[in-house]
Amino acid sequence: MTIVTRRRLIGGVAATGVLLSAPAVLGQSRPKVVVIGGGAGGATAARYIAKDSKGAIDVTLVEPTRRYYTCFFSNLYMGGFRDFESTGHSYGKLASDYGVNVVHDWAIGVDRDQKSVSLAGGAELSYDRLVLSPGIDFVDGSVAGWSLESQTKMPHAYKGGTQAQLLKAQLDGMPEGGTVVVVAPPNPYRCPPGPYERISMMAHLMKQQNPTAKILVFDPKEKFSKMALFQEAWANHYDGMIEWVGGDFGAVEEVRPDAMEVVVDGEIIKADVCNVIPAMKAGVIAEKAAVTNAKGWCDIVPATLQSRADPNIHVLGDATNNGDMPKSGYSANSQAKACAMAVRAELTGSKAFPPKFSNTCWSLVATDDGVKVGASYEATEEKIAKVDGFISQTGENADLRKQTYEESLGWYAGITSDMFG
Ligand SMILES: Cc1cc2nc3c(=O)[nH]c(=O)nc-3n(C[C@H](O)[C@H](O)[C@H](O)COP(=O)(O)OP(=O)(O)OC[C@H]3O[C@@H](n4cnc5c(N)ncnc54)[C@H](O)[C@@H]3O)c2cc1C
Repeated sequence: MTIVTRRRLIGGVAATGVLLSAPAVLGQSRPKVVVIGGGAGGATAARYIAKDSKGAIDVTLVEPTRRYYTCFFSNLYMGGFRDFESTGHSYGKLASDYGVNVVHDWAIGVDRDQKSVSLAGGAELSYDRLVLSPGIDFVDGSVAGWSLESQTKMPHAYKGGTQAQLLKAQLDGMPEGGTVVVVAPPNPYRCPPGPYERISMMAHLMKQQNPTAKILVFDPKEKFSKMALFQEAWANHYDGMIEWVGGDFGAVEEVRPDAMEVVVDGEIIKADVCNVIPAMKAGVIAEKAAVTNAKGWCDIVPATLQSRADPNIHVLGDATNNGDMPKSGYSANSQAKACAMAVRAELTGSKAFPPKFSNTCWSLVATDDGVKVGASYEATEEKIAKVDGFISQTGENADLRKQTYEESLGWYAGITSDMFG
């Protein structure tokens, strides 16, 4: 009976523009949690809060897309190791198996005094606790000449969905011996090894279908995650194909999307494909909720993921300034479980234990050649602090590298089922 009523809510709020908060409909007074963003952080938090409270908390998840395409493994799609559809996941089980009200709409405002969220479709959702996991947005003007309007010519492919398909189509259609330019982002950004795994996968693809192509990487950083491992792989598997220019020399002055040009140190470089990954900040809804700091990220209380600006709001994943944890799907999923425990404790009086956090970032550098970096973390007063870590070594044998890659396949299956049920 209850589930039927909730199911009717799916998509209904946006479509009708009517206030349909679940307790009002059900005539109950369960505490209400609204989760904004159905990605690695938000989907996990919604599922765990609903599941572990056994229906005692009314959970609404607001997410515009009906199918979530993971950025994780999008690079494997780029390299031809996976098809695109294998990275897509739907929200059906969150609704049917866990009773989460899934509302497909954009959150466009947060009224912290009224404790309500307004949706693009016109509805207002009231909450006792709000969980924000909106991922990232790009910093306007961080790459001169590039704006969101340019993303159809120079894709970022740094949010899930069609951008990855566009970049892959451009790579597939590149003229023989053409040039790919990658403009890498400054710190901090989503998935520290992400651009470099992508470069490896682009090179893998080119080696198969366009072996005289070149990949030029302009990077404002002096060094990057798993650098020695990537550089070893580039020399071993793609010798002469990839040129990485970092630090001051890697700073791009301007990109010209219409002309497909990139200007570096006064020199104009013609690109056949140009992947621009701009500087990042927390998803704009966090700014609208006024929970971002001067650098555009959300400061949090480490043990509970509560916003330092508002204890009724928890922030997860890439949007956080959390201390030592990298912005990764693994981190967001790990933080979501700590957040779910804290939210349940606040709203139902259940017991909360000191949270433990962990992360591993795997990268595929060539066929059956996987590398990884990871760590465990704990909450201190100031930050989520690294306790101990590990990293693959250069020169590892092929069996170990294959095993590392296979671990990543297990992780992908595990995290996506932990997010979506
Ligand atoms: C190329 C690439 C490779 C990667 N590889 C890995 C990897 O191998 N391992 C790993 O752990 N991580 C990886 N990542 C990083 C990972 O994708 C992110 O760190 C993770 O998705 C962050 O989770 P999140 O919940 O913060 O944001 P997301 O997963 O991006 O979810 C945010 C959601 O919020 C929604 N949203 C935004 N604004 C609103 C709004 N106003 N209203 C409603 N909904 C909204 C969005 O539609 C989105 O679905 C990779 C990233 C990239 C780009």
